[in-house]
Amino acid sequence: MGKALIIGAGGVASVCVHKCCQNSDVFEEICIASRTKSKCDTLKEKLDGGKTKISTAQVNADNVEELIELINKFKPDVVINLALPYQDLTIMDACLATKTDYVDTANYEPLDTAKFEYKWQWAYRERFEQAGITALLGSGFDPGVTGVFSAYAQKHEFDEINYIDILDCNAGDHGYPFATNFNPEINIREVSAKGSYIKNGKWVETEPMEIKRVYNFPEIGEKDMYLLHHEELESLALNIKGIKRIRFFMTFGQSYLTHLKCLENVGMTSIEPIEFEGKQIVPLQFLKAVLPDPASLGPRTKGKTNIGCIFIGKKDGKDKTYYLYNVCDHQECYKEVGSQAVSYTTGVPAMIGASMLLNGKWKKPGVHNIEEFDPDPFMDALNKFGLPWKESYSPELVD
Ligand code: NDP
Repeated sequence: MGKALIIGAGGVASVCVHKCCQNSDVFEEICIASRTKSKCDTLKEKLDGGKTKISTAQVNADNVEELIELINKFKPDVVINLALPYQDLTIMDACLATKTDYVDTANYEPLDTAKFEYKWQWAYRERFEQAGITALLGSGFDPGVTGVFSAYAQKHEFDEINYIDILDCNAGDHGYPFATNFNPEINIREVSAKGSYIKNGKWVETEPMEIKRVYNFPEIGEKDMYLLHHEELESLALNIKGIKRIRFFMTFGQSYLTHLKCLENVGMTSIEPIEFEGKQIVPLQFLKAVLPDPASLGPRTKGKTNIGCIFIGKKDGKDKTYYLYNVCDHQECYKEVGSQAVSYTTGVPAMIGASMLLNGKWKKPGVHNIEEFDPDPFMDALNKFGLPWKESYSPELVD
């Protein structure tokens, strides 16, 4: 059906490439392009020989001209951005210049301020509309599937949704005292930032990790979880009718938090450059270099993830609660595609989002968040491609 250019060759891209090859009727041809071409070649070697034709390329995604040249050469129908959030705008610029559809899994973040906001990408709306191309923002799990779950709940289960709690539990154990499950720089920037949630249309800010709850996750059990700022709160509060409050919680173990506090206290999580032996270095980037590569955690990680949304609202004048979630097993993911569940739960929806543009079901010129589209074909694809969802009408609630 079409051609996809995948930018990035890390944990998430690796899963996405595997999944594109499993969906070869839609992904006839893919090109994997990243800063380090050897990583793209390794992926190609692993998956070559199937129905999807694979090529590779070297690209610096900070450079719009390089991206345009690559897009003009490969002529993809869609670009799947699985590099880092810093590259979102340059890749969107290149898509605009070449009139190519765009998909990502994380919103743009300037390098020098850890701030997650959609304003930079939403500013492209008119230009994408005029160019007749679609940008699908946030097609990972959270953001991503959480938005699709919300659209599905709105469409099929509620007249009005008043409260959403997004719960992200990773009960995987990789055996290291401290490691992050995806890009350490992005992960640590996210968890060391202030927390926030939306109440009655306004942001309420908290200190980092100030709000803690214990939740009994289906198929996992009780875990400590903490309220974090998360990007999908901003778009869901606008796109879901009747929202009074929306919060995001993520689980963290005590060992992770103790290490993080210690690293913070000594200045290792700072994104302010410092002078070291005549060279400018960013402490957090240095920390990334000494931590285990998330891609290496796959074979060691045991346990499950459970990510989902609890909705509270009204249907036919009556109060209603509804919980939609997915449980994923780290070792089963590793057996299937050679990656742990955090990369898996992001790479599968990235492939599905791109397939919705290639098959025309979600083609809508402009810049859109995922919950703006019909959730049904995406929900079907989740069941088909390894992220089956479960539902409950009487979940434990978070106070
Ligand atoms: P990795 O660090 O494993 O991979 C990032 C890849 O991007 C690497 O291959 C890297 O190249 C490449 N890259 C970085 N900078 C450039 C550049 N300037 N030009 C070209 N390539 C570049 O990250 P992950 O795979 O874990 O994460 C990928 C994305 O997914 C991130 O944006 C992350 O925020 C997002 N994510 C979203 C989630 C969701 O649920 N929505 C959950 C988890 C992650 P090199 O190998 O040379 O370093």
